[in-house]
Amino acid sequence: MEYEPILGLEVHVELKTKSKMFCSCSNDSNEHHPNTLICPICLGHPGTLPTINKKAVELVIKVGLAVGSQIPEFSKFDRKNYFYPDLPKGYQISQYDEPLCKGGQLFLYLSDDDKLNQRAIEIERIHLEEDTGKLIHPEDKKSTLIDFNRAGIPLMELVTKPVIHTGKEARLFAQGLQILLKTLRVSEADMEKGQMRCEVNISLKPQEQKELGTKVEVKNLNSFKAVEKAIDFEIKRQTEILEKGEKVIQETRGWDPIKEITYSQRTKEEAQDYRYFPEPDLPPLNVYKLFDFKKLKAELPELPWQTKQNLIQTYNILSQGANILVQDDKALLLFKETVSKLDPEYKKIGTPLINNYLTTDILGIKEKEGLDWEDIKLSSDNFAQLINNLASEKISSRVAKDILLDIIHSNQDVEEIIKTKGLEKIKDESILISTIEEIIKNNPKAIEDYKKGKTNTLQFLVGQTMAKLKGAADPQELGKLIREKITG
Ligand code: ZN
Ligand code: MN
Repeated sequence: MEYEPILGLEVHVELKTKSKMFCSCSNDSNEHHPNTLICPICLGHPGTLPTINKKAVELVIKVGLAVGSQIPEFSKFDRKNYFYPDLPKGYQISQYDEPLCKGGQLFLYLSDDDKLNQRAIEIERIHLEEDTGKLIHPEDKKSTLIDFNRAGIPLMELVTKPVIHTGKEARLFAQGLQILLKTLRVSEADMEKGQMRCEVNISLKPQEQKELGTKVEVKNLNSFKAVEKAIDFEIKRQTEILEKGEKVIQETRGWDPIKEITYSQRTKEEAQDYRYFPEPDLPPLNVYKLFDFKKLKAELPELPWQTKQNLIQTYNILSQGANILVQDDKALLLFKETVSKLDPEYKKIGTPLINNYLTTDILGIKEKEGLDWEDIKLSSDNFAQLINNLASEKISSRVAKDILLDIIHSNQDVEEIIKTKGLEKIKDESILISTIEEIIKNNPKAIEDYKKGKTNTLQFLVGQTMAKLKGAADPQELGKLIREKITG
């Protein structure tokens, strides 16, 4: 039997506000001294009263506007009651049945696949709540420490409808959401720092069955890779259970990123009844009275899927290249500046070259050498100059890549490098031929092999000649000349 996986995502996001959700304590996730950003309100002392952080409400509404949610006139906060040591009040102020935003959709716009790109994932709701403290388990395992700096940080929770089918779709959704949150300046949304946390609900059902199967929840997915892999693992695990005629147990599972498996954390028997009720210390919200919606809409920046479309249309680059630029605002800025500084004559061939050099070579070196953008010295002027030289065929692509490596680290003037190192492409055929003759003379075995039909030895000979000429030649032209020379 074919089983259809049905997935829904729950994403928690720490909002970038100056102060916490219900008190004036600073919201600073870089503060490493524990229990310094606390007060009687976020510690839940008796007799204290919360007040709503208006900025946090505004940030959630911005997200709602960007994804086309319906934003109701009436919204309220509720108490979600449960006991856990990281929860000072014994309840979390959250939103139960009247969230700030209802509905909406997010396209999987970061996909390279045109069909997936068109796929809209429907959103169930977006609401506002507060974060909990953080439990720290020292290595001696004799004690548990607690840091309340995080308690009361504004937290946005976004829940999708159960419409996702694969790990890849879930990953693309989460990646697309992260870029949106950064673009809107709603959150840094760094998953490693716990500023964005994903949970997934997974169930499988026979294709023709209408009602959903037994739901399993997977928590602690703190990277995009974990989101995709945990889902793929669960789909496989649940399929195997169902194929054996057994039943999937309703439970919460964790993700082990080392073994790349999910494991049982707690089963339905221990599931909680949160006894939600309206928060008596906070008034209901009418956001239309609190904010000027015309202004909020006008203030929305260009959204990342619009940026991608504009890049593809304006610069005629491929979806793949545009995706990388959309996800890295520093790279995007460098791209735009460099293109604007190209010699107008070479704009057409130079633009895709810039995109290519930037998204594969520069970002590749950045990753390989573990550099930050601050470590990358090359200026847009110098980068444009490099591409001008390549587009005008003054230098070969091999030389261009060598120079690129240099200027990433030093930003030394491209013209000067070409001149002092003598890297300009050798147009004088007599120099090319005399070098080829020398290479042929020194490699009799390769020539013999070539004549016997091992045509790939030509690559080797071209390489030898290129090395001798310090890359200052066109490899295709060299290949042609060598072939002519050997076969006469
Ligand atoms: Zn506080
Ligand atoms: Mn929540």
